[in-house]
Amino acid sequence: MIHPMLDKAAALIREGRLVAFPTETVYGLGANALDPDAVRRIFEAKGRPSSSPLIVHVSSVAMARALAAEWPEQAEILAARHWPGPLTLVLPKQPQIPAEVTAGLPTVGLRMPAHPLALALIEAAGCPIAAPSANRFTELSPTTAEHVRRSLGSAVDLILDGGSTPVGIESTVLALTPRPLLLRPGMIGQDEIEALIGPVATFSSPIAGAHPAPGLHARHYSPRTPLILVRNGLLPAAGRGAYLKEGEAMPSEPAAYAAALYSTLHRLDEEGYDWIAVEEPPETPAWTGIRDRLRRAATP
Ligand code: AMP
Ligand code: MG
Repeated sequence: MIHPMLDKAAALIREGRLVAFPTETVYGLGANALDPDAVRRIFEAKGRPSSSPLIVHVSSVAMARALAAEWPEQAEILAARHWPGPLTLVLPKQPQIPAEVTAGLPTVGLRMPAHPLALALIEAAGCPIAAPSANRFTELSPTTAEHVRRSLGSAVDLILDGGSTPVGIESTVLALTPRPLLLRPGMIGQDEIEALIGPVATFSSPIAGAHPAPGLHARHYSPRTPLILVRNGLLPAAGRGAYLKEGEAMPSEPAAYAAALYSTLHRLDEEGYDWIAVEEPPETPAWTGIRDRLRRAATP
């Protein structure tokens, strides 16, 4: 038995209830992806607008293929290399995926998480699991069960505690049709994807025919304490705050920095500071996902 509450959690998913569970990125708030009422409960619990599509989690490539109306060669290549892992592929959906999951879009985001408990839950429930991060809308994503408890409390039927999530920021999201477009950077970099499938468009460097992405809210992933991005340690003159910099208060390597980021922000949020100043990480590809989250967390 991988976790004492696994059977209970799987039964709750089958009954249309909400279960928070760990993935390698952050904790997810899961429901049966094929049950529209269950999926609606996710939006209610989070206070999330129904215009924001959910990622559907699968436990095998076969399960993903069955939910996608098209499975291009690039999906095959990327899944073979990066699944299970923090890469979401957006593909045309099969009709069996309810409109609630995809915010009415004809496409669905699919991902096979690299976490034994997440995979065991999907297997035991016997259905794909739709799950956004297990926090109230716009708040910081949870990287521990305690973060979920604090944000959602009784709005979730069960929290499967699997310790801290190792990757620490949300998955890379890549649309594949009509052509590859990076919708959200993450710890699987654009360079790694391009090495496998060729050029990928981004919002900053669109290529002809690329489509815009829905469900991208600029402000997201925010602590309650104002977060400011700074350069060269230039801190606000007034107030009490904390200063985060890679290689000083934070790890110097991107993977370790990402793993520590949200838990650090959650902890600093409890300190009652006037501000959290974060030094802008280097403008290199390895930091792109982290820089994206920091920009969105920053107070405008
Ligand atoms: P979250 O679950 O909060 O980590 O966010 C999921 C993100 O995945 C959304 O904000 C979208 O950027 C993206 N996403 C999921 N499904 C789709 C889809 N069908 N089309 C475009 N983007 C999607
Ligand atoms: Mg989220």
